[in-house]
Amino acid sequence: MEAILHRDSLIKKLEETGRTWDIIVIGGGASGLGAAVDAASRGYSTLLLEEHDFTKGTSSRSTKLVHGGVRYLAQGNVSLVLEALRERGRLKKNAPHLVTDQSFIIPCYTWWCVPFYTTGLTLYDLMAGRLGIGRSVPLSAKRTQGSLPNIKQEKLRGGVRYFDCQFDDSRLAVNLVQTLFDLDGLALNYVKVTGLLKDNAQVSGVVAREQETGRGYRIAARAVINATGVFVDRVIKMADPQARDVVKPSQGIHLVVDKKFLKGEEALMIPKTSDGRVLFAVPWHNRVVVGTTDVEKQHADLEPVAEEEEVDYILETAGRFLAEKPGRSDVLSVFAGLRPLAAPSGSKAKTKEISRGHKIIESDGGLITLTGGKWTTYRKMGEDVIDLAARRAGLPPRKSATRNLRIHGYREGVNVGAPRYWYGSDERAIRDLVQSDPGMGEVLSEKLQVIKAQVIWAMAAEMARTVEDFLARRVRALQLDAAESIRMAPDVAPIMARWLNKDKKWEKAQVEAYTTLASRYLLT
Ligand SMILES: Cc1cc2nc3c(=O)[nH]c(=O)nc-3n(C[C@H](O)[C@H](O)[C@H](O)COP(=O)(O)OP(=O)(O)OC[C@H]3O[C@@H](n4cnc5c(N)ncnc54)[C@H](O)[C@@H]3O)c2cc1C
Repeated sequence: MEAILHRDSLIKKLEETGRTWDIIVIGGGASGLGAAVDAASRGYSTLLLEEHDFTKGTSSRSTKLVHGGVRYLAQGNVSLVLEALRERGRLKKNAPHLVTDQSFIIPCYTWWCVPFYTTGLTLYDLMAGRLGIGRSVPLSAKRTQGSLPNIKQEKLRGGVRYFDCQFDDSRLAVNLVQTLFDLDGLALNYVKVTGLLKDNAQVSGVVAREQETGRGYRIAARAVINATGVFVDRVIKMADPQARDVVKPSQGIHLVVDKKFLKGEEALMIPKTSDGRVLFAVPWHNRVVVGTTDVEKQHADLEPVAEEEEVDYILETAGRFLAEKPGRSDVLSVFAGLRPLAAPSGSKAKTKEISRGHKIIESDGGLITLTGGKWTTYRKMGEDVIDLAARRAGLPPRKSATRNLRIHGYREGVNVGAPRYWYGSDERAIRDLVQSDPGMGEVLSEKLQVIKAQVIWAMAAEMARTVEDFLARRVRALQLDAAESIRMAPDVAPIMARWLNKDKKWEKAQVEAYTTLASRYLLT
């Protein structure tokens, strides 16, 4: 098998004595991966450390949209929308196996709605310039219903169709890790940064602990970037215990339901809900993702839990627009994520009013923190933070090479209806595994179309270390159908145990831990 990443030999690279990395990035979500890939694309020696698994935090819990943000346009944040539309176009070009065009329909029940949104969305299209996807068009009531067969018809006057893109957040992250390796960088999951090294009061590296063995490392770097999402304040305080908090966590949840609640390939967009947000229902891997909410939280949490009111709000709002309404028993999975919003100093703003733009903060001692932003703009965020870090660290100036950098797995013309399309060019390796050993074709889930070869590939080439890594972030079973993923866990654990050289006790503990976790994604 090509492209095997042996953990032991990767960890050995942390032990190379006397080595100083150009850049160390803390955090393996969208922000950290964007920064690390950008640094490596310039030829800087780059190390990324993630405490848990890549995208264990917010970056696996998005609405799965690569978008300019119609809502931000309505708020008048033109520069953010322009930047996001540019990045949308670039990401679609660089990762066509994961980022696909998605049409959205706004259903209209008042006389002014069709002309109003057609005008606004035409401006949105124009802002995308030559990176645009398609023109927004007004629709009659009949055509709106043809596009969204389950839409409530009573008083329906028409609709507006516009375009954005859709993606798979954790799969993109896996491919970014592989891109980093392709560029001679190094990324390790399950390595926690526990402190910062200092030299003459300047940050000169990190203290880290490998989570599987408990071994400690002291790793030197010319620049250290803190991209730890809602946890950035903890790392900032390692550099400066007196520093004020910069992040306001804001929770958003999603419900995943059967595709019969849309009955088509087009997405539903409700531009103004009762709490002044937007609501999306978007087809995703043969299901529908419905969300989201915006609830301010006081604490960072790795496994945030959906509040009952959030669930009720989404079901109630979606139900107002759908003929066949989803109920609690229709929910296949509920997942919550925390936006690491960069709150302006002393701000009393509600979280939904805080800009989704990114922020770069320099602490005393030279630690550089990257926060806020969106998955859509992760590349630009990476470029901006590395521009600054390279300058501050006195690295030889080199231009970012990520604008046109093909992301690992790049393949044009994928059929998103086919199982395993998301592997892009790596899909061939999975087919080769099955060809070399027909046992690898064993089906682990008919419903989710998962086979044994995917488990092996996830460990060999995608750094999966636990049953959760595989089910939650390599094949998305946790978010697509939590109950089915619980059923799969006892079949996945022995396959992983054999490959990773673990015993029966490990297997049992893995299944128990996974079942406990996944039960929280079910509505009881
Ligand atoms: C509900 C919701 C919907 C969204 N929808 C969209 C969308 O559709 N499109 C879009 O573009 N954006 C969307 N976003 C925004 C986007 O998901 C986030 O901006 C982005 O994922 C944040 O990434 P991050 O890397 O900053 O944080 P995270 O993904 O949380 O990554 C931080 C990582 O740092 C690690 N870490 C923490 N402490 C340490 C340590 N000491 N050592 C090592 N590692 C550490 C954590 O384990 C974590 O994995 C959405 C966000 C939410 C919450």
